Amino acid sequence: MAERYQNYVNGTWTDATTGEVSTSTNPADLSDVVGEFQASNSADVDVAITAAHDVKESWRRTSSLARGGYLLKAASYLEANLEEYAQAVTRESGKAILESRGEVGRAIALLQYYGVEGANPVGAVVPSVNPNILLYTNRMPLGVISLITPWNFPIAIPIWKMAPALVYGNTIVLKPASATPHVATLIARMWEAVDLPEGVFNLVTGSGGAVGNELITNSKVAAISFTGSTRIGMNIAAESAKRGKRYQLEMGGKNPVIVLPDADLEQAAEITVSGAMKYSGQKCTATSRAIVVGNIIGEFTNMVVEKTNALKIGRGSDPDSIIVPVIDQASKDNIASMIARGVADGGSVLAGGGVPSGSTFDGGTFVEPTVINNVATDAYVACEEIFGPVLSILPAVDAEDALNVANSVDYGLSAGIFTRDLNSVLDFADRIEAGIVKINGETAGLEPQVPFGGMKSSSSGDREQGKAAIEFFTQSKTIYVDRSAT
Ligand code: NAP
Repeated sequence: MAERYQNYVNGTWTDATTGEVSTSTNPADLSDVVGEFQASNSADVDVAITAAHDVKESWRRTSSLARGGYLLKAASYLEANLEEYAQAVTRESGKAILESRGEVGRAIALLQYYGVEGANPVGAVVPSVNPNILLYTNRMPLGVISLITPWNFPIAIPIWKMAPALVYGNTIVLKPASATPHVATLIARMWEAVDLPEGVFNLVTGSGGAVGNELITNSKVAAISFTGSTRIGMNIAAESAKRGKRYQLEMGGKNPVIVLPDADLEQAAEITVSGAMKYSGQKCTATSRAIVVGNIIGEFTNMVVEKTNALKIGRGSDPDSIIVPVIDQASKDNIASMIARGVADGGSVLAGGGVPSGSTFDGGTFVEPTVINNVATDAYVACEEIFGPVLSILPAVDAEDALNVANSVDYGLSAGIFTRDLNSVLDFADRIEAGIVKINGETAGLEPQVPFGGMKSSSSGDREQGKAAIEFFTQSKTIYVDRSAT
């Protein structure tokens, strides 16, 4: 029988009032039930929010150095338990084990970065026109923050939100994706292990439909930080705005690379395939469109197809696997229907397009890595996020045309260009509508000490990570101290 896990509220492991549970399963083997998790409702969320609200003043008044100390202890705890956490990420999300270890490593780096941030200044002393006035700024926490997170980076994304939230003095309620609640309970266990004060971090599992509204509308919640699909994110924006709550949304992408005729084609093809196919394309920054300029398109396409066909499909627990199962059957069906729609719109499938056969794949949600060409630049498959291992190759007559194609979609998260020409690089970096720009690099694969976020429908609100996180997780206060009184 599957192990049963609880919510973590006010420093205590608790059952939901509903008395109901839901399960999560291993995408590589759907008969492997990871566990049973609390199917919470609004009342459970309210209890967690109240717990966070009750301690927000004491946490705010804890020195930021001490708050950072908890993060540094959590980093050490994760380091000591890296393998267990990485195996859990692979089992529940399907991710290749090497990438899961990298993800836990990233979570450690984030905790270390924001742990140290607890010792850094957050305000400034500013000259006043009046020499008797000490004029300075400070940064104040917001209070209780709801964190709503997706399944594709089940440890790194919650940590990159909660590390800055906590070090800057906020208390939090985390609602993880229903596909990856076990990893979230391991995050709670980490905070329990380092004796984070009760109520500062709270975990409530449950479906977005059942608990999402309370997390957004509860009057004790000051702000919402969300990562997930654009559809859900836009609804959170509307509901938050109605109530004057601060929100931060990181959403979908349709990330392009442009390949110019002077590029190192071998390098461009290698990096394009890696960006499109690793983790089966389930990264918000995955490469989804290769826009190729001029008559190199035939040679580039052949290279991409050859490299794609060589990718090993397998379970994430096999260290050689590159193409791992997608998160669930609904995602698998959606990818198949997107490919079919691409074909109906005139596209040709050059690699993949189906599901792999063989006993390794029978019990899981595997799809083949797929390359499509001949689709129009405005075809659905070339404009909408697929979140699977599917790359569209699109032609362009020159660099200007390629830039227009790259900018023609609603998303603007990450983008790359392959060229040796400095002027083309600078023009691209200036004009591409994307929050992350890679020159001769993969659209995915980012460092935690710099801002992360996109443009257009990919993001809304302040940037995450690096120094930028302080903008969302605090508010500025300006203090005038007049010392002229005798
Ligand atoms: P999703 O379906 O939008 O879910 C994200 C989170 O929102 C989950 O915890 C989900 O809970 C919750 N949710 C669902 N309905 C809700 C509601 N009505 N109110 C409040 N919360 C609700 O996205 P996903 O499938 O987990 O993740 C894939 C998407 O995330 C892709 O679009 C990807 O591009 C995006 N993403 C973006 C970034 C970035 O930084 N830009 C990073 C990673 C992923 P349930 O799981 O219970 O439905």
